[in-house]
Amino acid sequence: MQVETNATLVSLNTLALESRASYLVTAATPQDILDAVALAKTNGLPLVLLGGGSNVVLASDLEAVVVHIVSRGIEILREDSESAVIRVAAGENWHRLVQWCLGQNYFGLENLALIPGTVGAAPIQNIGAYGVEIASFVDAVHTLNLDTGETRVLSGAACEFGYRDSVFKGALRDSVAITAVDLRLNKQPVVIVNYPSLAQYFEDAGMQATPQAVFDAVVAIRSKRLPDPGVIPNAGSFFKNPVEGQAGVAYLRTRFSGLPAFTQADGRVKLSAAWMIEDCGWKGAEQDGMGVDTNHALVLVNRGGNSGRALLKLAGDIQDAVAQRFGFRLEIEPRVLGSSDG
Ligand SMILES: Cc1cc2nc3c(=O)[nH]c(=O)nc-3n(C[C@H](O)[C@H](O)[C@H](O)COP(=O)(O)OP(=O)(O)OC[C@H]3O[C@@H](n4cnc5c(N)ncnc54)[C@H](O)[C@@H]3O)c2cc1C
Repeated sequence: MQVETNATLVSLNTLALESRASYLVTAATPQDILDAVALAKTNGLPLVLLGGGSNVVLASDLEAVVVHIVSRGIEILREDSESAVIRVAAGENWHRLVQWCLGQNYFGLENLALIPGTVGAAPIQNIGAYGVEIASFVDAVHTLNLDTGETRVLSGAACEFGYRDSVFKGALRDSVAITAVDLRLNKQPVVIVNYPSLAQYFEDAGMQATPQAVFDAVVAIRSKRLPDPGVIPNAGSFFKNPVEGQAGVAYLRTRFSGLPAFTQADGRVKLSAAWMIEDCGWKGAEQDGMGVDTNHALVLVNRGGNSGRALLKLAGDIQDAVAQRFGFRLEIEPRVLGSSDG
């Protein structure tokens, strides 16, 4: 394993926040992760796993052994005329995997194009976009217990997937590393284009929705709507869209008639956090070098402040404003690492 001490993490998080790790281990194999666990135990430090750093807020320096997972490999396990099952190493880049699958005529992931980060982190928050979630394709998740070193394979059902949620945020939080993910993909093209902006795209373009066309459409829509973290550092959606019961939503809509609301399969209603933030006047705002994107109010951006604490202060002020106006507190989507105190 490769180890660096007092290592900067600025290029390992898409918000480009300044933070240093006591130890930074670059882990290409499960054995490297186990060696990092031993290093953490020897030094009495916690272990922190990092993939692409696109869903974390580094609130401070991390007195920890940070493990950057960089394992590689895609293996075709089995296929027939209907589907193919592939095993992908945790450190593979998600978007490159989506491209690779399309090239192989393995379909299903097109709507999830251009989501930053690694394959290993994708099941953790059940990545989703444009009407599709990874949950629909997960055959198994391979894990390594960070305490005992035991390996365990979880079925898709055992992952307990929900909206931006899974068992890896619940009972297994911080206790396992995901080392590989098995995905079952369609060999026959199935396209899902009922998400409003995607449906509109195909209506405007007057073209047929093939998997390649869906991939191109998602890349085009996302490139237009979301700031590129390589240009304006960000972590994508900073807050989850609140999901509320019918009664509460009916009341809110009597007061805020424009509030977008989408009824879910379970009857509960997902509300647009971006709309609420904009309605509170925060879109485009800036505070201590951290800001709210001018195009998309759900995206907080680093405009040179470079400080996790400043970012969390801005997030807290937005949460307060939304709570005061709408009666509930928005939940932060990325994982906050380090301490935002003092
Ligand atoms: C511009 C932009 C757009 C985005 N759009 C979307 C979107 O449309 N939909 C969506 O769902 N998300 C979106 N995201 C969020 C993010 O891309 C996903 O959550 C992604 O899966 C995070 O992957 P990562 O490798 O960067 O994880 P990291 O940020 O490195 O880690 C996230 C969490 O997972 C843990 N972790 C990482 N790897 C492992 C592992 N192998 N085993 C165990 N734990 C691990 C970390 O400890 C941390 O708690 C977006 C982010 C950005 C910057």
